[in-house]
Amino acid sequence: MPDLARCVAEAYQTALPHRGQGKVADYIPALAGVDPDRFGFALALPDGTVHTAGDADEAFSIQSVSKVFTLALALRRVGSSLWDSVGREPSGSAFNSIVQLESEQGVPRNPFINAGAIATTDRLIDGRSADEAVDEIVAFMRARAGDASVAIDTGVAGSENDTGARNRSLSYFMDAFGTLRHPVETVLSVYFRQCALSMSCRQLAQAGLFLAFEGRDPRTGEQLLDPHRARRINAIMMLCGHYDNSGEFAFRVGLPGKSGVGGGILCIAPGQGSIAVWSPGLNEAGTSLVGALALEHFAYAAGWSVFD
Ligand code: GLU
Repeated sequence: MPDLARCVAEAYQTALPHRGQGKVADYIPALAGVDPDRFGFALALPDGTVHTAGDADEAFSIQSVSKVFTLALALRRVGSSLWDSVGREPSGSAFNSIVQLESEQGVPRNPFINAGAIATTDRLIDGRSADEAVDEIVAFMRARAGDASVAIDTGVAGSENDTGARNRSLSYFMDAFGTLRHPVETVLSVYFRQCALSMSCRQLAQAGLFLAFEGRDPRTGEQLLDPHRARRINAIMMLCGHYDNSGEFAFRVGLPGKSGVGGGILCIAPGQGSIAVWSPGLNEAGTSLVGALALEHFAYAAGWSVFD
């Protein structure tokens, strides 16, 4: 049995000299202004223990990491019919790519590219108001994190909306094919807010635990999602969690993960635990450079891999 506290400390120390490398997302001021030297790491275990290093208690914009949770909630709400709206294939394209949407008749390749996440959010609304859907997302994240302070950064959400031309284009393009069931602006108002959730590594790692334990929160015993659905979310994270960098992440880390342009990565070790890292400098595909490095070292030191 590896000494996990030591593995966390070692992974953090090994990646630390690379802090500040990569490019901080600059499409909105709230992200562009984040200190590139920030670096946090948290490992949540089923007994409630959380091992942390660095800035693990500082909240950051989780951005596309939210797509994992809205996928879980949409599957819970509409079941397998979700797959009428979105596929399960890796895209090999950038997060905001539009090209495949045309050849694939407006059905996005997977739930983690922007178009696919927007289509998933559309299904999560499923006949209720945008605010009700957002309330469910926030309540779910608070409950999973065990922390009622988890909230949406309304400044970030507003900036996402102000700079959302690309996401609007994707949405109207899908709408033209009949993929969306709600008005574009209704769907985007949820999507922009979910991306603007502000959470720390500690909160995010705890929120991911149910995915490591077949849909059951090991701390409360609640079955939140069918086991086969939790496994499938992990499969999609493995194949599509980092846009056109997903193969490299699987090769180096060997665990399902999801990155966000805020510099956060959620990584699931099935049957073991849930890890969240944060460092704002991104590689070319939009995954945290230092975060991926730290996860690679941690997975190696702990001997954790889905290919074990
Ligand atoms: N809010 C960003 C967008 O929709 C999220 C991108 C990401 O985190 O990968 O463009």
